[in-house]
Formats: sequence, C-alpha cells, structure tokens
Amino acid sequence: MGNEERAKPKFIVLLGAPGAGKGTQAAYLEERLGIPHISSGDLFRENLRNETELGRLARAYMDRGELVPDEVTIAMVKERLAQPDCAGGAILDGFPRTIAQAQALEAILAEKGQRVGIVPYIKVSDEVLLARLAGRWTCRQCEAIYHELFSPPKVAGRCDVCGGELYQRADDTPETQRRRIEVYFQQTTPLIEYYRRQGLLVEIDGEQSVEQVRADLLAAIQQADC
Ligand code: ADP
Ligand code: ADP
Ligand code: ZN
Repeated sequence: MGNEERAKPKFIVLLGAPGAGKGTQAAYLEERLGIPHISSGDLFRENLRNETELGRLARAYMDRGELVPDEVTIAMVKERLAQPDCAGGAILDGFPRTIAQAQALEAILAEKGQRVGIVPYIKVSDEVLLARLAGRWTCRQCEAIYHELFSPPKVAGRCDVCGGELYQRADDTPETQRRRIEVYFQQTTPLIEYYRRQGLLVEIDGEQSVEQVRADLLAAIQQADC
C-alpha cells in the first residue's frame, strides 16, 4: 500500500474555516501519505519568528485577522512548492484562500505537468469553530496542535511530540477569531463552488472526533485515487 500511495503525485487542498481542524488532520496525512504538509499560516509564522522582510509585511494583516495580499502569499507558497520534497505531492493547508490564489496554484502545478487531485472540505458550524479556536494551544517548536479540552497534551503546557512549550496564538483572541471567520466567509467560501464545479470537492463532517474525521479523509483520498 505504501508504494502504491507514492506512485502518482498527490496534491491535496484542505478547505475549511479557521478552527475546522485542517492543521490537525494535515499532520496525520503527512505521516500517512509521505508527502509534506504545507501550511501558509505556519510559513508566515516562521517568517515572523525569523523577523524577515516578509514577516514584517505579514504581521499587520495577521494581527487583524485579514488576509495577507495575494502576491506575497503566492510567491511564498510557490517557493515552498519548488523544493524537491514536493515532487510527490503536498497537503496544502490554508492555501489557496482566494480565487486568485487557486488560479495561481493551478498555473504553478501546470508548469510541472501536475494538478490538484482532491479538495476535502472540512465542514464545521460557527459555534464549534469559536470553541475550538478559543481552546487551541500550539507548540512553539514544532507547531503541533492541541486543545485544552478536546485534545489536551499529556503534560500541561508541554508538547507531546517534542517537549516544546505550548502557547496560544496572538491571533486567537475573540475579536480576531470572529474577524477571521468573517474573512473566511467573504473570501474563501467562493472556493468551495470553484472546486465543486471542477468535480474535486468532497465534503467531510468536521464535527466528528479527530479519529473519525481522519478516517473519512483517508477514505475520500483513496477513493479519488488522485
Ligand atoms: P487558521 O489555522 O486559524 O485557519 P492560519 O494559520 O491558516 O489560520 O492563518 C493565520 C493568518 O495567516 C491568517 O489570518 C492570514 O492573516 C494569514 N494567512 C494564512 N494563509 C493565508 C493565505 N492563503 N492568504 C492570505 N493570508 C493568509
Ligand atoms: P485549522 O488548522 O483548520 O485552523 P486546527 O487543526 O488548528 O484547525 O484545530 C483547531 C482546534 O480544534 C485545535 O485546538 C484542535 O486541537 C481542535 N480540533 C481539531 N479537530 C478537532 C475535532 N475533530 N474535534 C475536536 N477538536 C478538534
Ligand atoms: Zn512540539
């Protein structure tokens, strides 16, 4: 099975609102499918930590819960996709978030004779999204994701994976959370129809347990045979 899964490049776009569970699931899929998890949010946060020019530019948008401009975001993800570990595919989490980004992704992949194979859309209601974002803790070192109630670490404040310190993201304040969900509905929901029209969208019930969502995702990906 392992070999079969590596046979064709697999580009998977995970869609879902902030808090839907994209990052949580992408971490499992990365291990299971042997293709890298590319999170635009993680790439931005890495730039913030390293105080790069890109990080300085992105900070103001991220702090407000707004999208970073398309040109900047597209250039950053394009560079990441050009790395050799993406030859066999990638799990894209948080990108694309606008139609312009989706079209740019198509062009980037087309240059290499590749394309998006499946777009799982993880559906979660607004109340659940807010509860998830409010209790989210992230590892400062490896970006592993926890929830203080729904998936707590074994030792409070410490990452199970690497022992790193857990923190609450600066953009996980109530006002920013609400703004991010609003921005998602304005700018990212059009992508649901965009990918549905292309026959790539698969809806996944994101209000189930982490394990059940994972099982549904794997089944959809295997069925799509992308
Ligand atoms: P969440 O995990 O809550 O969905 P992310 O970590 O994906 O949030 O994103 C955090 C912030 O990074 C966003 O609010 C936005 O400012 C910026 N960002 C991430 N991905 C994109 C993108 N594809 N386009 C524009 N901005 C983005
Ligand atoms: P996203 O990347 O879509 O913003 P995350 O993966 O960061 O979402 O998940 C948001 C929060 O919800 C985290 O605290 C995570 O532990 C929790 N979470 C993720 N999936 C589930 C689930 N199926 N049930 C309960 N909590 C979940
Ligand atoms: Zn960690």
